[in-house]
Amino acid sequence: MGLTRLGVLGWPVAHSRSPAMHNAALRAVGLGDWRYQLLPVPAELFGETLVALPGAGFVGANVTIPHKEAALAAADEATPTARAVGAANTLTFADGTIAADNTDVPGLLAALGNLRPRTALVLGAGGSARAAAYALARAGADVAVWNRTRARARALAADLDVRVADAPVPAEVLVNCTSVGLADPSSTFKDLPLTADGLGEYACVVDLVYRTGGTLLVQEARRRGSRTIDGLEILVRQGALSFEAWTGRTAPLDVMRAAARDDEPDPPDDPRTSPPAPGRPGGDRGRGGGA
Ligand code: NAP
Repeated sequence: MGLTRLGVLGWPVAHSRSPAMHNAALRAVGLGDWRYQLLPVPAELFGETLVALPGAGFVGANVTIPHKEAALAAADEATPTARAVGAANTLTFADGTIAADNTDVPGLLAALGNLRPRTALVLGAGGSARAAAYALARAGADVAVWNRTRARARALAADLDVRVADAPVPAEVLVNCTSVGLADPSSTFKDLPLTADGLGEYACVVDLVYRTGGTLLVQEARRRGSRTIDGLEILVRQGALSFEAWTGRTAPLDVMRAAARDDEPDPPDDPRTSPPAPGRPGGDRGRGGGA
């Protein structure tokens, strides 16, 4: 019998920690004949790849840059959360239909634990900022959004009924949803409207960006006594919710955390049963980002 397949559709996606994280989780819950793989697919091939996946043994997929909006549009059905955010990060294939969800929203809230902030500052206005602003507003926070391109912040604010911040405002939680700090840590306090010393004013600092050794934003916030949540914890939390939706099993969070943090190697794929995919796992593990 063939493998039951999962994967992550993105472009680029070689940096993703999701295969390591999900394959470790599948092994831990005894689903030895399931595999999760990279699916590097450029935007122009997204639609045709998506419809071919169920026939190739796929029961679900995560979706990351730049496909999250296209994934929602291509789905036959979608959760209210995915519709409200305008993007999907989790697709489930069953009975000839594609169902879309957005686990970035509950994933962020799960990462916050008991913290339900009254105020939040979200940096960015892309897909992850929309998910974060929606999650925090739904959880009761007064949300302000800052973005380099002001018009995008205004559009997000209008769609999700949150505020635009022209400059950083005090808040209980700061969430970096820009890609700043991913490729070049030294750009962090140049490209974001923040100073390292100012970070201590935020009780909790969340950085969606992740890279080996941690981001400068998280390091400086921790040094100033803020609680910090890094991008790998966000990755684990959204991934755990996708995993549970696909498998019906409780996600082994500690296993997923260890694997996402590179403590566990990927298993080799079975070359006899691997479907053709334009690329293989590996690549740059030094830096990361979305799923
Ligand atoms: P996106 O839709 O492409 O949005 C990128 C955002 O970054 C925009 O707001 C953009 O501002 C801003 N930005 C880019 N370069 C900038 C610069 N030099 N200075 C100031 N702002 C800049 O991306 P996304 O999907 O929201 O993802 C954002 C980041 O979060 C990425 O690094 C992604 O990998 C990461 N992420 C992590 C997870 C996780 O699980 N940990 C999940 C999702 C995303 P403009 O509008 O002005 O261009």
